[in-house]
Amino acid sequence: MFRIRRIYDDVIPINKLAIAQVQGILRTQFSFLHEEEIEKLPETLRNPMKHDFRSILYVADDFKGNVKGFAVVLHEPDLNFCFLDFISTSKQMTGRGIGGVLYERVRLGALSLKTVGLLFECLPDDPKLSHDPQILKQNVARLKFYERYGARPIINTAYETPLTHDDDNPPYMVYDDLGQGNKLSRNLARKIVRKILEGKYGDLCPKSYVEMVVKSIKDDPVRIRDPKYIKPEKIIATNHTIPEDDKIALVINDKHDIHHIHERGYVESPIRIKTILKEIESSGIFRSTPIQHFSEKYIKSVHNASYVDYLKKVCEIIGAEKSVYPYVFPIRNVTRPPKELPIRAGYYCIDTFTPLNLNAYLAAKRAVDCALTAANEILSGRRIAYALVRPPGHHAERKSFGGFCYFNSNAIAAQYLSAYGKVAILDIDYHHGNGQQDIFYERSDVLTISIHGHPRFAYPYFTGFEDEIGSCMGEKCNVNFTLQEHINGARYREVLQKAVNIIRKFQPQYLIVALGFDTAKGDPTGSWSLIAKDFEQNGRLISTINLPTLVVQEGGYNIRNLGINARYFFKGLWEGMFRKSVEF
Ligand SMILES: [Zn+2]
Repeated sequence: MFRIRRIYDDVIPINKLAIAQVQGILRTQFSFLHEEEIEKLPETLRNPMKHDFRSILYVADDFKGNVKGFAVVLHEPDLNFCFLDFISTSKQMTGRGIGGVLYERVRLGALSLKTVGLLFECLPDDPKLSHDPQILKQNVARLKFYERYGARPIINTAYETPLTHDDDNPPYMVYDDLGQGNKLSRNLARKIVRKILEGKYGDLCPKSYVEMVVKSIKDDPVRIRDPKYIKPEKIIATNHTIPEDDKIALVINDKHDIHHIHERGYVESPIRIKTILKEIESSGIFRSTPIQHFSEKYIKSVHNASYVDYLKKVCEIIGAEKSVYPYVFPIRNVTRPPKELPIRAGYYCIDTFTPLNLNAYLAAKRAVDCALTAANEILSGRRIAYALVRPPGHHAERKSFGGFCYFNSNAIAAQYLSAYGKVAILDIDYHHGNGQQDIFYERSDVLTISIHGHPRFAYPYFTGFEDEIGSCMGEKCNVNFTLQEHINGARYREVLQKAVNIIRKFQPQYLIVALGFDTAKGDPTGSWSLIAKDFEQNGRLISTINLPTLVVQEGGYNIRNLGINARYFFKGLWEGMFRKSVEF
């Protein structure tokens, strides 16, 4: 079994491992390459535009991270074409279908960039140009392979002119229009060929050679060789499906509805998940991912151990039917928490409307498992993962619960990812993300940003002020944006843009979005008026940070627009991230 995925950076451990293996294959299979070229690979992924071309790396690997093959594509955004620089399988894997799957992934990538097509060099199948029968045989096989996709050499030009007299096998330039029926105009073909020769082979090709080849392109449009090996009806139809590795990993808390507070006015209800799911499922951009189980130690890595133990125990003894609301708050004598566990609730709670019951612990623990599963998806190379969970978590501090929250799932995921690089948490719920602020307040490796209603009028009332900037090592690593009681989407985005700029400056390796939809029009807990189109634009704006992004569901309680707003948010985020458009 293998999967194909795009590698965006050399930060995530599994990507580092993959890149090292790709370099190994380059060394053994492409012996003519200079070592410095090979060494450069991670850097070209990090600074993709440095050499006029954007480098895109795809690998085929198994789930242990063993690379079976890879392709490097160069995207030239001005002329808007792709050049397939390398495609190869590791030696022991040749002839196992990996090349075909890789090539199809490359084509899909080039299509989604809306390019005019894919070009690449291929050694000639003409005995006059290829004198070694063994090599000639390989060249025939290769051109035959590409012909199955409709890719054939450009003819009637001097491209395949040897650089020196004794050069055998001067390559053809092959064009794959990706099934779009495009013809290459002479003008565009000349520009493309010049760009390839100068950009790729600048050191090898003398200027006069480049001029000679460019001028030799006379046909308009350029001519593509007639099919030689494959009948037209046998050409593989272009597959337009969304590549699996571009999909958003969706981890749903399947046990969320065991936590159901029936009291009137308790807006944090099970229907929220169903409403979101119903709207996003049909989009085709999500891939459902099973939940993994994690031990309690991950919860205790951000929450006080006695708080976690307390919550577990008290939920067990309360019984199935009862909900306990905190009603005594021993703020003056913190060294003597009440002996009776249900009464002790106020010792750990910040408000009077977040009850304890049998399933609060179990549901909250399951939400944490979902967030950590989604974090693992990010570590396995996925670009976007979404933990669709309830209860929410961003009001849960190190040692307290409240605001419908018990465990801070986004903070636990941030702590987990912080072992692999710097993390930024962007909280776009209507209410201040006091939980992660408290948890990371003295940390410089986790940036916490929250955009919320001013605590003057919005829950939790006692935190979220702009002068809370972090302390000790964490100074300036906490940023609060407080907004007025009545704002629209445009005003919101001005502030979101500022938050995005701060995150860029912090240079994190991972982004966590604490996603709330209570900023929407008509939310019973908010006062703003964002509509679906605003959420789409917010998603698109966040995609410009261009990092592996883990989204954790927080608030949002207007059942009438909750699902639609979620659909539009992910449309914006996904399209922005992959430069595609999708019909929902
Ligand atoms: Zn909220």
